[in-house]
Amino acid sequence: MSQTKYIFVTGGVTSSLGKGIIAASLAKLLQARGYKTTIQKLDPYINVDPGTLNPYEHGECYVTEDGAETDLDLGHYERFLNVRTSQANNVTTGRIYQSVIEKERRGEFLGKTVQVVPHITNEIKERIQLLGKSGEYDIVITEIGGTVGDIESLPYIESVRQLLWELGDNNAIVIHLTLVPYLSAAGELKTKPTQHSVKTLMESGIKADILVCRTEHEISDEIKGKLALFCNVKREAVIQSIDASTIYDVPLLMQEEGLDTVTLKKLDLPDNVVPDLTKWNQFLQWHKNPKNEVTIGLIGKYVELQDSYKSILESFIHAGAVNQVKVKVKSIHSEHLTVKNVAGKMAGLDGILVAPGFGERGIEGKIKAVQFARENKIPFLGICLGMQMAVIEYARNVLGLADACSTEMKPNTPYPVISIMEEQKSVTDKGGTMRLGAWDCHLEDGTLVQKVYNGASEISERHRHRYEFNNEFKKQLEEAGLKASGINKKTGLVEIVEVPTHPWFVGVQYHPEYKSTVDNPHPLFVSFVKAALEHQQQ
Ligand code: GLN
Repeated sequence: MSQTKYIFVTGGVTSSLGKGIIAASLAKLLQARGYKTTIQKLDPYINVDPGTLNPYEHGECYVTEDGAETDLDLGHYERFLNVRTSQANNVTTGRIYQSVIEKERRGEFLGKTVQVVPHITNEIKERIQLLGKSGEYDIVITEIGGTVGDIESLPYIESVRQLLWELGDNNAIVIHLTLVPYLSAAGELKTKPTQHSVKTLMESGIKADILVCRTEHEISDEIKGKLALFCNVKREAVIQSIDASTIYDVPLLMQEEGLDTVTLKKLDLPDNVVPDLTKWNQFLQWHKNPKNEVTIGLIGKYVELQDSYKSILESFIHAGAVNQVKVKVKSIHSEHLTVKNVAGKMAGLDGILVAPGFGERGIEGKIKAVQFARENKIPFLGICLGMQMAVIEYARNVLGLADACSTEMKPNTPYPVISIMEEQKSVTDKGGTMRLGAWDCHLEDGTLVQKVYNGASEISERHRHRYEFNNEFKKQLEEAGLKASGINKKTGLVEIVEVPTHPWFVGVQYHPEYKSTVDNPHPLFVSFVKAALEHQQQ
């Protein structure tokens, strides 16, 4: 294909309609027809990236191979498409302004007054076309965060208007996602909010090509006709997006509604290939017909907001499917775990996962959970902070180093078994300065993790942390039975610990959850779920 085609996805009426899932589903359908597709998210907030945001604000921070701290929608893109994203796939207003201001300081605008139009909009347009110009993609889908009419999304909407004009018909289209609410008192679905939202879009000079309507009830043909008439779109371009029991059903629902066909028609692209969704359907078949069920405790401090652990929860869905096991995840607040209640709260769990996190709040509860899993031989997976807590627990309760801790929480601990990396000591900025992105790890022969990774010796996984296993305690901990089974050969940093005398006890400094996809469930999650099932069946 000579020219990359662009699809812009905007949202109206309200936030949280699931633009990311619609974008990912459409991308999946296009990919299944052989089109090389990627998705990009433009976020209107002023943070340079979501790395500095509390998970309660914006959910999990997703990390790409190249170490970008990004919006959690990129996780959906990777899980659906099984294609890597990068820094170029997520742009925020903060990053746009940062780059324009840096150019201004370098004198690149040659004395001109720097303005939203054209300077900010040019920067946005450049970022949108960066992926397209790489020559790697036939189609780039760009999702604009927020809702049309928001003050903060105006420069993005204006950039889309300009690009539609510059790229020309059939090269760029707009899909507008809206809500068609059901008024139970009237017993009716209402189209007015959609009409208003399309009107707002038109005031900015943009005509929606396709309407995707989120709804709790079936939208009748009559209502579709009405929406087409009032919103200036073709009848076939009014797509219903009804609530689904799983997000993984959405590509199939969109296919039934013809979202892919109408998109290809508008983009003037051939529609002569039957989409190959064999793997996807196999996954759904397994996911919906589990033979067993396990309960995994997720011990974390952000458990009130499900989005905080999005990638972990999705990894369990992928790993559950291949094992044909339904994984019930029971969220347990680490702040509320004490010596007294830990046995009660852990009762009935087939596996225990101690989650990533930052700061002191809730760590003692996490340490109690590790101890319970270790002593009762319950399968245990510790991720990042969870691995660090496993090391502290082992130092305290097996080695007898009573006040062992991480210098993140106790800078003056006598036994800093987790401590800050040398190169991190001088770092003062919080944003984008952790150990981020893909790092190599060597798996020691004969270890559990080597079996888990199907015999591999070299793996690569994504990181997001500042503190590390302190090698000064390595010999002592290993002699006491906590094996360092994964090491980064270049730096000597310990990436994985395991307890060989325990049926399944693994702590990983990296985040396996970022790499699990529908097509490639992560081996650690697959093996952990299997171990949980075996534990249950003992
Ligand atoms: N707070 C820990 C660190 O910075 C762990 C981070 C995490 O769990 N992602 O090392």
